[in-house]
Amino acid sequence: MIVETNALSYDYGSGEKIQFPDLKVAAGEKIALVGASGSGKSTFLNLLSGVLPIQSGSIRLLGHSYNDLSPLRLDKIRADHIGVIFQSLNLIPYLTGFENAVLGLEFSKTRRAKIDDVTYQTYSLGHQLGLMPDILEKRPNKLSVGQQQRVAVIRALLGSPELILADEPTSALDPAATKEFMSELNSSVEASAQAIIVVSHNPEIIPWFDRVVRIGRE
Ligand code: ADP
Ligand code: MG
Repeated sequence: MIVETNALSYDYGSGEKIQFPDLKVAAGEKIALVGASGSGKSTFLNLLSGVLPIQSGSIRLLGHSYNDLSPLRLDKIRADHIGVIFQSLNLIPYLTGFENAVLGLEFSKTRRAKIDDVTYQTYSLGHQLGLMPDILEKRPNKLSVGQQQRVAVIRALLGSPELILADEPTSALDPAATKEFMSELNSSVEASAQAIIVVSHNPEIIPWFDRVVRIGRE
């Protein structure tokens, strides 16, 4: 298993506990995580990516239990094995698209070691995602939202982490662009057998996935 959760729940302190379904994701599996707004989709991804601490229940990533890891070890494991596409893309404004794209590699020797030629690999992923080379030379404020999203995708995919987490990556795109984006994302993760969990409340993207996991009451 790439990732496995058990009896996971989270309470922000408002007294209402969010309960998450038990999840098992195998290598290369594509999961759509759906649920109403406020049902806890982003909270779930933040628990998986280690942004939020585990309060109750457990998560295992490639056999490592988050509950047993020190914060430092957890950071390292997550940098090596998880690529995250945040809802607010988190691109750094003073870096070019290329510099943003390769950022994940600076925090993981494991991911860096999987790539011979970083420049070639970055432009090649850009090409697969429909980004012209000159786009990668520009800073985020000179790019469209769709182009920024693709830079965030390259950053998550480079060095082939086993698990990709994406929080509503198509929320700013129109239906045609959504379809194109999902198809590109799909072929990129399939090429490297990466598992992916994509949060969305857009039913149009569901056909791209192996399995749908629902959070909360629909
Ligand atoms: P979704 O991504 O499905 O829209 P979230 O995971 O963002 O849902 O939120 C789940 C619930 O937790 C919501 O009721 C939301 O208001 C609450 N929540 C989210 N983030 C915080 C926070 N930082 N502090 C307090 N409550 C929060
Ligand atoms: Mg959310």
